[in-house]
Amino acid sequence: MSEDQELGITEQKEYNPGEWYAEVVEKAELASYAPEGMGGFIVTRPRGYSLWESVQDNLDAWFDETGVDNAYFPLFIPEDYLEREKDVVEGFDPEVAWVTHGGHDELEERLAVRPTSESIIAPYMAQWVRSHRDLPLRLNQWCSVVRWEATETKPFFRTKEFLWQEGHTAHESDEGAWEETLTRLDQYQRLYEDVFAMPVMRGAKPDHDKFPGADTTTTVEALMPDGKSVQGATSHNLGQSFAEAFDLTYSDEDEAERVAHTTSWGLSWRALGALIMTHSDDQGLVLPPTVAPEQVVIVPIWQEETKEEVLQYSSEIAAELEDDGVRVHLDDRDERNPGFKYNEWELKGVPLRLEIGPHEVDDAEVTAVHRPDGEQTTTERETLVEDVEDHLDAVFAKLYAAAEETLEENVREADSPEEIMGTIGQHGGYVRTPWCGDEACEAAIKEKVHAEIVAVPLDESDIAGDHRENAHRAEAIHEEGDECTVCGDDAVETAYFARSY
Ligand code: AMP
Repeated sequence: MSEDQELGITEQKEYNPGEWYAEVVEKAELASYAPEGMGGFIVTRPRGYSLWESVQDNLDAWFDETGVDNAYFPLFIPEDYLEREKDVVEGFDPEVAWVTHGGHDELEERLAVRPTSESIIAPYMAQWVRSHRDLPLRLNQWCSVVRWEATETKPFFRTKEFLWQEGHTAHESDEGAWEETLTRLDQYQRLYEDVFAMPVMRGAKPDHDKFPGADTTTTVEALMPDGKSVQGATSHNLGQSFAEAFDLTYSDEDEAERVAHTTSWGLSWRALGALIMTHSDDQGLVLPPTVAPEQVVIVPIWQEETKEEVLQYSSEIAAELEDDGVRVHLDDRDERNPGFKYNEWELKGVPLRLEIGPHEVDDAEVTAVHRPDGEQTTTERETLVEDVEDHLDAVFAKLYAAAEETLEENVREADSPEEIMGTIGQHGGYVRTPWCGDEACEAAIKEKVHAEIVAVPLDESDIAGDHRENAHRAEAIHEEGDECTVCGDDAVETAYFARSY
């Protein structure tokens, strides 16, 4: 195998998506596997971490605009704290990692490594909230959590330790908590659509798959090109169960004691997995310009006699773009030829390549190449800065359009259990169908084709404000008198079945 081939991607996305994904993550230098004996853990490399930083920058700005303060709570949770909310104990019990020793001494009470932090944050919120004037209280923390996943792990998509943000809020009324839940869902959707160039489907989780203890779990789901759905982020209206368990009460205007309403919401680095999986191809990583560590790479092409003028012209252009705020890299390495550089930057997902040789210098031009489809255009030196901005917008639009097509073409309907299973088996994607609401009907399908109900429609009608007006939504298609497609009982809900990550 030549050196170029070894560096490049050898698996094909269409035929071997699992291996292809692992290869892209490794060869684009996003992450490595942790040492032997630590299956399910990963090491995030600088290029991967910078993607996470762009998630943080965007969400932090929006959180700040909407009244959220960042804070930090301990990694460990005492066992009796975790036990106070019974649903959390039941929901997370099999996945909790425990600390039993400090140095050589056995601890009197074991400490849980947080699988999520409601149980340690709510008691403090309870101390800090006295009256209705202290509400709403909105906290967020950026941290890692640990869940000892039994199912197969996959870098970013499902790891035992993962980075995320978790928001926790308390409100006077159910209405306030609902508004909060949907505001965060809006922000997650905005991250996917406006930053990641990925349309998502907005919905709720079926009752049996809600966050432990929640009244409602809302979700944004992203459909991958291989037909599997990814839970993109979740926002939970926790009702009063956590506030009751942790005595989170306040005195209202008449000095009467009331129980608060709480929410929690989280987005993990699974979002990066979805981003990588959606746009990348057999040449490697593809990133939208919004998150790419380098938005533009300039590859100069020279012979010994033209080197000086080509490099001079290239560095002037690089400086101009940098002044305009573009993240640009000039690859002036002597020891690599242009072809090698093209491959390397394609593998690393740089959205736009500028090629500059002696002809470009003579004609005061630049050749621009789009990463997603290789489209090549010549642009004038004079209008270069504006043109580069247009090119970057065009790359974003191409990526969004392709992802939107995947979503829009892959929502189907089915009239029988066989049809649900056949459609999932043949096409993947979503199958929406009337459902009685019983988990057993999901189990029957799951057993055969590993598809589950990833979403049901989310009723937002009682909440003020336009929540992402043009959003793709899990819509209700069941009508009065319809039967559950699986068991034939009365349908009360529309289920969206899909295989998921
Ligand atoms: P949850 O607290 O279960 O609602 O999950 C919050 C967010 O973390 C969701 O966006 C999940 O998709 C994501 N998530 C859950 N488990 C994992 C995991 N093992 N690895 C990465 N992300 C996860």
